[in-house]
Amino acid sequence: MNLCVVGAQWGDEGKGKIVDLLTAHFAVVARYQGGHNAGHTVYVGGRKFVLHLIPSGILHPGVVCLIGNGVVVDPHALFAELDELTSLGIDVAGRLLVSDKAHLILPYHRELDVLSEARRGERKIGTTSRGIGPAYEDKIGRRGVRVGDLADASDDGALVGAVRENVAARNRLVGNADMRWQDVLADLRRVWPRLQPLVADTSLYLHRAMHAGRAVMFEGAQGTLLDIDHGTYPFVTSSNGTAGGAATGLGIGPARVGRVLGVAKAYTTRVGAGPLPTELHGAVGERLRETGQEYGASTGRPRRCGWFDAVAVRYAVRVNGLDALAITKLDVLDGLEELQVCTAYRCGSDVLSEMPGDIAQLAQCQPVYEALPGWTRPTRGLTTFADLPPEAQRYIARLEETSGVPAQIISTGSERDHTIMRSLSSIIDKG
Ligand code: GDP
Repeated sequence: MNLCVVGAQWGDEGKGKIVDLLTAHFAVVARYQGGHNAGHTVYVGGRKFVLHLIPSGILHPGVVCLIGNGVVVDPHALFAELDELTSLGIDVAGRLLVSDKAHLILPYHRELDVLSEARRGERKIGTTSRGIGPAYEDKIGRRGVRVGDLADASDDGALVGAVRENVAARNRLVGNADMRWQDVLADLRRVWPRLQPLVADTSLYLHRAMHAGRAVMFEGAQGTLLDIDHGTYPFVTSSNGTAGGAATGLGIGPARVGRVLGVAKAYTTRVGAGPLPTELHGAVGERLRETGQEYGASTGRPRRCGWFDAVAVRYAVRVNGLDALAITKLDVLDGLEELQVCTAYRCGSDVLSEMPGDIAQLAQCQPVYEALPGWTRPTRGLTTFADLPPEAQRYIARLEETSGVPAQIISTGSERDHTIMRSLSSIIDKG
């Protein structure tokens, strides 16, 4: 049984920890979209690992990690991450494969990202400025450069032609010719010897691995509400982080994706612009941010914080086909007197139980809250559901009822063992 782990909110849900926790049950961990804009933070034995591009499964010896065709790869960011892993004593040799069909992020993508945000002014998306969006634009525009293209850097080959044209287009757009295609090409030629040993047909690799009975975990980045199709467009990322992306982003049949686990915080956060119906602007929001250390793993930006939004999570249940939830950061709510759960949106005279598709309407929505009592006894580090204060048990039960799926994992701290595993078999059962 394979498993896809996705974010059920606006990203940063703590997928890194959950994936890390479950990796022991899988032989292969595969990323299928996004780039090094993701930031998975994992603490193991008190050591902090922040992985942006490489699946966090790499921290487990023997696990093979794939970067699929749906991912966009900045080779220098990849190498920097590999160097960091090596310096921390993690042996990556033979355990990381990169799809020959993955598109490359090139220097002009980073620059165009910054320019496009500057042009949007007030309406800026709040991207990580790492060139992810422009790389996907080139992919869809059918002018991108793929990892496998680097194999032929001959003067009359397709790579040289694409780099020349793309740099010329950049120079026209920027209005000066200070980027030379020869420099971009020379860099790619330098990159190739180190990248080449990692390159593979990852679809074929997965096909064979599954055929041999090896279990695969698919690791989604960002979150459902940041999905290019299903998120709060245009304040979204440039790829499909929802479960469907696993099939197209890796070249496997949809039925192979297996079960789908959604990761959601016990409250809500969002980084960057766009609607966030349950956002809290006062002291409680500040408290969640400080206690939850809600600052971006990639950019350090403070995250906007609010109460748990069951409308959004129900939506994630639907568009991903979630079988279960992993609720993270329950401990962050410790000590709050009263908690609110948003069960519907009030929009003018309407009460909506489903997420509206129009973000102008979503921006007007006011949360309809249900109040629940908080708890005083700390939950931090607890590992058994029965040990949770009764109010915390009730809170979790309400999250399950309002979102419509069981919370099979509850995270009570950032360490691997700060976890309540209620039914592992329902998530990874081979039967
Ligand atoms: P991801 O991108 O979804 O993996 O999320 P991030 O790694 O950006 O953010 C999750 C952060 O929350 C990390 O710093 C984790 O160590 C931390 N974290 C995960 N689960 C818990 C938890 O249950 N409690 C607390 N206090 N922190 C957690």
